[in-house]
Amino acid sequence: MVYQINPIGYISSCFKEKFGIPRQPLLAPAATGVIELLPPYNKAEALEGLEKVSHLWLLFIFNQSMDEKVRLKVRPPRLGGNKSLGVFATRSNFRPNNIGQSVVRLDDIIENKLYVSGIDLLDETPIIDIKPYIPYADSINDAYNLIAETAPRTINVTWSALALEQALLHSARLQHPIKQLIEQCLMQDPKPAYQKATPDKHYGMKLWDIDVKWHYPHENLIEVLIISH
Ligand code: SAM
Repeated sequence: MVYQINPIGYISSCFKEKFGIPRQPLLAPAATGVIELLPPYNKAEALEGLEKVSHLWLLFIFNQSMDEKVRLKVRPPRLGGNKSLGVFATRSNFRPNNIGQSVVRLDDIIENKLYVSGIDLLDETPIIDIKPYIPYADSINDAYNLIAETAPRTINVTWSALALEQALLHSARLQHPIKQLIEQCLMQDPKPAYQKATPDKHYGMKLWDIDVKWHYPHENLIEVLIISH
């Protein structure tokens, strides 16, 4: 049997490429996006009641990592990228039906568009459903996951004088907290854990309309070098 799923909308996100996106939602509260619904769901009726809700579950398609290959085991970055686990024990984007799920903060609803934050979705990700987060049912006091017991280890982030000045200018221009967004994303250390950082190797990510470049002066420190537009 084949089921067809159609997007109900798309997210316009601060993340313009996959590299650097936090590996789960809510790790970067300054990461924001706007969900625009498609007809027939782009009506106030479909959103009635959502003003009483702080967080949403977004169900979406990992449209930028679709392949036909069946993967029973995957290598989650959390385990350094060199240890494999059963696909159903992970939140890998390489999975059956390519369905992702993220809990995000609902900040506002304006003209039937949903303003959300704490996202881990790439720009233009197709959204296939939205559900309210229900604290009594969705938060489980005695739950455990021995593979991912705590939030991932974070790394310190420093700034070159130039990059800091540029971050503040872009914050004012874009009316977004760019410095916080960059720090929250880089603190997660986007570099694959198996890769050795050397000071001469530069990394980059695209946020909104800016390119952020950084390097690792040493293993446990990131320095933001320059932001270009
Ligand atoms: N929270 C979701 C879940 O558990 O299903 C996503 C977890 S997945 C490990 C998060 C990663 O998915 C991000 O770091 C980003 O690189 C990737 N990603 C986000 N949007 C995507 C998209 N539209 N297509 C492919 N990969 C995407």
